[in-house]
Amino acid sequence: MLARELMLLIILMLGSALCGREAVEFLAYYGYMNPEVLQNYSQIPNEELENALRDFQMFVGLEQTGKLDTATCDMMKKSRCGVKDKFDFEGDDRSSKRIRTASNGIPWNQKELTYRIFRYPKHLQSAAVNKVVEQAFAAWASVTDLHFRQISALADINIAFGAANHSHFHPFRPEVYGHAFFPPAGSVDFNEDWSKGNRSHSGLELFWVALHEFGHVLGVNHSMANRSIMYPYLQMGRSNPNFPFDEEDVRNIQALYGPRRPRPANLCSDSSFDAIFEYPAGVIYVLKGEYHWKLTPDGIASGYPRLNSHRWAGLPSNIDAATATSSGLTYFFKGNSYWTYYHTSPHISNPSYICVGWPGIPDNVDGAMWCGGSVFYFFKGSSYWRYAASQSPQVPASYPKLITVWGGIEGVVDDVLYVSSGYVYFFMNGTYSRYNCATGGIDHAHHNQPDYPRPVGRWWFQCDRNVAEENVSSSNPFTINSTETTIEDTAVSSTSSPTTIEDTTVSTTANPTTIADKTISTIA
Ligand SMILES: [Zn+2]
Ligand SMILES: [Zn+2]
Repeated sequence: MLARELMLLIILMLGSALCGREAVEFLAYYGYMNPEVLQNYSQIPNEELENALRDFQMFVGLEQTGKLDTATCDMMKKSRCGVKDKFDFEGDDRSSKRIRTASNGIPWNQKELTYRIFRYPKHLQSAAVNKVVEQAFAAWASVTDLHFRQISALADINIAFGAANHSHFHPFRPEVYGHAFFPPAGSVDFNEDWSKGNRSHSGLELFWVALHEFGHVLGVNHSMANRSIMYPYLQMGRSNPNFPFDEEDVRNIQALYGPRRPRPANLCSDSSFDAIFEYPAGVIYVLKGEYHWKLTPDGIASGYPRLNSHRWAGLPSNIDAATATSSGLTYFFKGNSYWTYYHTSPHISNPSYICVGWPGIPDNVDGAMWCGGSVFYFFKGSSYWRYAASQSPQVPASYPKLITVWGGIEGVVDDVLYVSSGYVYFFMNGTYSRYNCATGGIDHAHHNQPDYPRPVGRWWFQCDRNVAEENVSSSNPFTINSTETTIEDTAVSSTSSPTTIEDTTVSTTANPTTIADKTISTIA
């Protein structure tokens, strides 16, 4: 017994004078030793202390000597977070109610989180603190779908600046700049005494400190990687404040909350899109990226954009083209594949190859439109194809033809939309032109209206709505009577028009090649 205590004494004396019992307290405070050892300090086995020291040295990246060497003692005095590095003795702590950390690695259930700063530091202006805290939350929000909102009432996350012995049973050690409690406890305490001593760069320091503590309050543990924002020691200025995270930080927070989904595009700032189709009659869907918008005669329906996958299960983002029949069969095209939905029910074979389901149609189409019956048109580059499911071959040998047949249209389309009142809309890079099936040409503007091509944002998405309303009359696409009863070929007068719409029979079969067509008489 005496020999062991002597060895312990020697081990402790190897460190600086400040190390010793303080080192044991330190190791217990941060989870490397059971806090109960402090009650029998002289009884600590050498091996236990050495193991605890090695654990600490490994965690913070020091040489694992198992001894209280100078580097280890110095490290113990540096500014750091008060949250434990290890939770091996957490069960004991909780039973003794010494530490209230609930758990770690468990996320909040909701992604909308409120926070409250209920005690501000005396030496910093409240507005400055608000700004720094907001920036630190914004950093975490930039890599997740989390949203943070400051309120003045009791919030999910409650933030306070306090002295060492603040309201609960986990006082700050002198080196501690702050600590936080994992979800669902949701409190963050900053050491006001510490920040007073570091006031020269207090705003910037607070940012890094807050960033770290907010990681905990979101459920992230300490990291052993000293490039991580969750390394227990202050990492101020190691990274770019605009993107302060290490890969590991992003991985850890996204393991809890999932990756950040791309934000929907603004159709008014860039009115190009991936695809457009009409179904049911009078309702038009526009797709762009991962999102879709529903257009009604009154404009973009409220609650949009929404994620494509929420309406059409399994549909990828950034599709090439889409079209729908009046019976509710909706086709989406991307690359060499297409996806079929009946209303919103996915077809069991999704996705299928275009070359299998649509023989004669190329991959990577730009536009697709249904023109009634079993007739579809596809556009790619400067070419287009007419596809009649009821014909054999479905695409006549005379295709592809030049897109300029459509009233001189030139360029690559975003997508093409046929409406049953006899118009084909060509959407190109934020503008559109209207092809009139009856006249076989692009419509000319009447009266004081602007000529085609027109900006899509103003005429379809009602961007700049007030201006548009002054000028819009019956040629506004939203006011077109697109009742499906006009599908029949009454709208077509010229047989030289590319839209010779003969087919009126529509099947609900998902495979377009099996759509029956008994009424076909001629092929355009
Ligand atoms: Zn921490
Ligand atoms: Zn506290």
